[in-house]
Amino acid sequence: MRAVVFEQWKTEPVLKEVERPTPGPGEVLLKVAGAGACHSDVAVYRDFDEQHGPPQLKPSYVLGHENSGWVEELGPGVKGIETGDAFLVYGPIGCQHCAPCSRGQDTYCDNAAAMPYLASGLGRDGGMAEYVAVPARNLVPLGDADPVAAAPLSDAGLTPYHAIKTALPALAGGGRHALVIGLGGLGQIAVQILTALTGATVIATDTKPDAMARAEKHGAVTVPGGPDQAARIRELTGGRGVDAAFDFVGVAPTIQLAASLARTRSRIVVVGIAGGVYEWNFYGIAYEAQLSSTYWGTIEELYEVVALYRNGQITPENEYYPLDDALTAYRRLEAGELTGRAVVAPHGRG
Ligand code: NAD
Ligand code: ZN
Repeated sequence: MRAVVFEQWKTEPVLKEVERPTPGPGEVLLKVAGAGACHSDVAVYRDFDEQHGPPQLKPSYVLGHENSGWVEELGPGVKGIETGDAFLVYGPIGCQHCAPCSRGQDTYCDNAAAMPYLASGLGRDGGMAEYVAVPARNLVPLGDADPVAAAPLSDAGLTPYHAIKTALPALAGGGRHALVIGLGGLGQIAVQILTALTGATVIATDTKPDAMARAEKHGAVTVPGGPDQAARIRELTGGRGVDAAFDFVGVAPTIQLAASLARTRSRIVVVGIAGGVYEWNFYGIAYEAQLSSTYWGTIEELYEVVALYRNGQITPENEYYPLDDALTAYRRLEAGELTGRAVVAPHGRG
């Protein structure tokens, strides 16, 4: 089968012929419906190496950690799953027997350091291919929903969903304001999740006018960059600042923007992995403002994301590519030429 393989640190992946996987015990083989190209993949093949980034990400393996597919074959011991049914894949794979894994939060597995890989497509073969083998336990049913269009939900949907859910106490109540920085694959869905889960006014910003126009379509008020950006956002909050900020870029200036606008007792969640440094000091930020990172989400939350999708409350903004053009999708992502998610559909749009 054809697959996009990450072969060497700091090198673009290659599209090549590899052997079709065989599902091991407890696994299923999926015929891939959709594989989203995430900006984290770019960090994996451009920025990371032995000294920098999790050691489990060492090449070589098939990329693609944001997948959906139809069950093609059941591995030994798998029961209760029908071939042909459509599922979304929960990507993270932890040890399965610690407390975080027991609650479906493989991202925070206590034994992650001893695991040979982090997720499907992150250290072990992922779904940027015709077929992928995944643990049956990581499948979330899609029912009759379009599996190709749904693929981004497994990361570009789940990651903002988890970040927003952890910040919900700050956003519950009248007159609240949320700030979304970076309106790409994740940020566009974040705007929709905030609208679905809270009554907060959603303020959003990006360097690209077309990305902001899309966010406006989903109900956000947008403010472009520039010297008066922070003042204009503050004005929209009646001078108080935002109750929660979600930074999908993560460079020093975006973290600084979020921190400078944080209201007392607010939540700032940095999702983007650009590695920006923020120098905290007691008087430099509003009282009790909480700043945190975040990583992906839980299996249970992925069920909730699917429920929002099936209710029509979130719709990923996708561009579709055949598998033969997967590297073009990654190049366009790197060049900042996308305004939504590039989804590779190896078996067609369906
Ligand atoms: P993307 O390339 O689709 O979107 C990034 C957006 O940010 C683009 O629209 C771009 O124009 C905008 N942007 C860039 N610099 C900006 C700036 N200075 N100010 C405002 N906007 C700016 O990327 P994506 O796939 O949505 O991923 C976003 C980030 O989240 C990446 O860093 C990715 O690695 C990270 N990520 C983190 C997790 C996690 O679990 N923490 C999961 C998935 C992705
Ligand atoms: Zn675990």
